[in-house]
Amino acid sequence: MNQSYIINQLAEEREKYFHAVAPPIIQTSNFAYPTVDEFMFAIQNEKDEHIYTRGNNPTVDMLCQKMAALEGAEDCLMVGSGAAAITNAVMSQVNAGDHIICVQNPYSWANHLMTKILPRFDVHTTFIDGTKIENFQQAYTSKTKLIYLESPVSWTFELQNLAEIAEFSKKRGITTVIDNSYCTALCQKPIDFGIDIVIYSATKYYNGHSDVVAGAICSSKEIITQIFHNEYMTFGNILAPQNAWLMLRSLRTLPIRLKQSSESTIEIMKYLYKSPKIEKIWYPFHENNPQLDLAHQQMKMPMGMFTVALKNRNMSAIKKFCKSLQNFLIAVSWGGHESLIMPKCAFVQENDPQVNMIRFYIGLEETSYILEDLDRNLSIL
Ligand SMILES: *Cc1c(COP(=O)(O)O)cnc(C)c1O
Repeated sequence: MNQSYIINQLAEEREKYFHAVAPPIIQTSNFAYPTVDEFMFAIQNEKDEHIYTRGNNPTVDMLCQKMAALEGAEDCLMVGSGAAAITNAVMSQVNAGDHIICVQNPYSWANHLMTKILPRFDVHTTFIDGTKIENFQQAYTSKTKLIYLESPVSWTFELQNLAEIAEFSKKRGITTVIDNSYCTALCQKPIDFGIDIVIYSATKYYNGHSDVVAGAICSSKEIITQIFHNEYMTFGNILAPQNAWLMLRSLRTLPIRLKQSSESTIEIMKYLYKSPKIEKIWYPFHENNPQLDLAHQQMKMPMGMFTVALKNRNMSAIKKFCKSLQNFLIAVSWGGHESLIMPKCAFVQENDPQVNMIRFYIGLEETSYILEDLDRNLSIL
């Protein structure tokens, strides 16, 4: 399906709402039926009808259809956060006694789920370096039911070979889940490589304005229907109609936002590559990335987040540098209109080997505006 068609036309039934160009926000918890027969029909077809907004809501449904189509997935569920997408997807696939293989250093709350919560239900996880398929083979046991991926991983941006891992998993009846938040479907389509479930923090690039927390789960009709009737309805972590509407608005500009963030980042990378103040850069499309070929194979765009290690390891010098950058905010998260830095020194002790790492997200400001700020402040570091 054409991307522009999905973003601008798909699921928009304007004749139902006065031919308004922008869709309505159906701000209701409940849906009423004129007859018992129609009510009965809706109850029997809960996944496709409107009964109660914890299950379905027309504004949210419109977003789900667009997200599924962008992904090339049969179906999608929107949830109230990326963390909820992880929890619903992972918990839907495991039972007591099962084993998970997960890439090392996944998103922090995915890590918390697998190290703190799932062990209480006798589900145990082995964390591996996901850059080599041999590590998956070594970690595999007859109890392995799920492989959890994040390509690239936040902070250090290692990739996993999705086609190889999908083939490995299919042969053994293992379900594969990937956190594809960094790429979005516009840059990487894991389902095309054979991955089963794609989850997102839609808070990041998809919404892109730092004003909504949201998550998405994209997969086959079978898997999504199963999650809907079990984890989704029970955990109740829905996306509110108002937030779904804001996300629908955000989707209109997704392609140009990603293009700007990617193009700016490539320019900034060229500058940082030459800077004598930088010790190391982690970025999938960096020319020194040993996985550069794989990045080009799997990713259609470079995207806008990377990490640098400064040569200067002095905590107070790093703090001063971060404070003096005027066109970057110091914050968690990423994917919005605004450029951000996340200094590792906020999370570790002064003598930590990673103290000099800073994660950068490049937003939608003019490239020169960002570059000038970096240049001015790196020179005095
Ligand atoms: C932010 C983030 C999440 C969690 O998403 P929330 O919407 O904050 O719950 C998951 N994965 C990655 C890679 C993220 O950056």
